[in-house]
Amino acid sequence: MKTLKRFPAVDGSLGWYESMPVQRTHPVKQVTKNQYFDYIVVGAGFTGLSTAGRLAELEPDSKIAVIDALMVGQGTSGRNAGFIIDLPHNLDSNESSVLADTHIRELNCFAISRLDRIRQEQGDNVYWNQVGKYMAAHEEKHFKNLDSFTKTLDSINSDYEIVEGADLASRLGTGYYKKAVYTNGNVLVNPAALVVSVAKNLPNNVEIFEKSKVTSVDFNLKKLYFDNGVLTANTIILATNSFTEEFGGCKNKLAPVFTYASLTKPLNEDALHKFKKVSPWGVTSAHPAGTTVRFTSDNRILIRNSFDVLPDLLSNQKMIDEAKVHHRSSFMARFPSLDAIPFEYSWGGMLCMTMNHEPVFSESYPGVYAIAAMNGVGIAKGTYLGYYMAEMIKGNKSEDLDFILSNSNPSWVPPDPFKTIGARVRLSIEQRTAKGDK
Ligand SMILES: Cc1cc2nc3c(=O)[nH]c(=O)nc-3n(C[C@H](O)[C@H](O)[C@H](O)COP(=O)(O)OP(=O)(O)OC[C@H]3O[C@@H](n4cnc5c(N)ncnc54)[C@H](O)[C@@H]3O)c2cc1C
Repeated sequence: MKTLKRFPAVDGSLGWYESMPVQRTHPVKQVTKNQYFDYIVVGAGFTGLSTAGRLAELEPDSKIAVIDALMVGQGTSGRNAGFIIDLPHNLDSNESSVLADTHIRELNCFAISRLDRIRQEQGDNVYWNQVGKYMAAHEEKHFKNLDSFTKTLDSINSDYEIVEGADLASRLGTGYYKKAVYTNGNVLVNPAALVVSVAKNLPNNVEIFEKSKVTSVDFNLKKLYFDNGVLTANTIILATNSFTEEFGGCKNKLAPVFTYASLTKPLNEDALHKFKKVSPWGVTSAHPAGTTVRFTSDNRILIRNSFDVLPDLLSNQKMIDEAKVHHRSSFMARFPSLDAIPFEYSWGGMLCMTMNHEPVFSESYPGVYAIAAMNGVGIAKGTYLGYYMAEMIKGNKSEDLDFILSNSNPSWVPPDPFKTIGARVRLSIEQRTAKGDK
């Protein structure tokens, strides 16, 4: 039996969740008694919901539970920047093979089409915008990162457009960026709305339990313990992202990093006047520690930057407030004429990283599987890894599954305190070199 010590919490005011246009259709159900399920998926983010969805398709008569400590949409899946990225996207670009990059793009596109079908079937407005994305640089010294990105795009025959100067400024409504690489396959969403829509779409043989945290586990007996009940399963899947180590699997593999986001109030008439002819857009930075920015289809601006390594896997209001100050300065640098527009929401969430950017995708104990560490691109990656985890559990073989298995070997990270010290030093160097792209 293992007792868990670290649990997910609502870190700040969750902007996407609070402002989402999608309505829940089912009441919140908690674990309140002892029950048996064929499959229990822990974690109701994109990864867990995708695993449950595919298991339900493959085994329509099985009893499946998805459980989460929080409400669907409050976890990291509902806190991210909402880019569903079609292209290979290493936060740190390493040498990677053309075949692997091509395969990753295909898997990402598969995930995008699956999510698109789901939200259309649900008829939910998740602010789905297939508007591509810009990878942009303010500082000339970061142009070399744009060049290395276009080299990867050339190698996999992916179209792109270089946009600069006045053209870029008129498309974005800010003259802050000097140069950008625009690619058209990315989709922008309200991620909390999308994850709720995915949960709503699960068939009737899947039961969702929310506000139900697993407090201890006995994997020999396949039992999960809660404050008010015990769930037993034939097969357990951990889709618990940065918390997966708590359950006893994947020791010394994960390096969770907090990052923060703020969302403004919708721009008022006066401010919108300056955004005339500007369509919703998303910018990721040419520097890995730079700022992500969006102009959303409900006329808000999102700013995401700042990093912290927090071994308790919890942030606090002071840290969120510090990040908000940083967000404000990034906002003002880009939109000096919008000084009257305040942030309405600010929150934190964890990027679950590994040293070599490969995810955890394995059987950790007999009958207990783990999927974790999406390395910053979990909407698409979590969706396809969840799908193929279900395929693997059912014994279905495919080239895609073989590819995933051969690229899911996260390298070793040192235990704490060395992990935290090392990560803090590295992040502080990265943030300093990002300079004006922060
Ligand atoms: C600010 C920010 C911006 C980001 N931007 C992007 C982006 O634009 N595009 C993109 O693709 N990715 C982005 N990411 C990364 C992305 O959000 C993650 O990769 C993704 O959410 C991972 O999904 P998941 O389902 O694997 O994990 P999660 O969404 O974290 O789901 C895991 C779930 O497990 C639950 N859980 C954990 N422990 C327990 C327990 N003991 N009992 C019960 N439940 C438990 C948690 O409550 C949680 O809901 C961003 C992340 C952050 C923080």
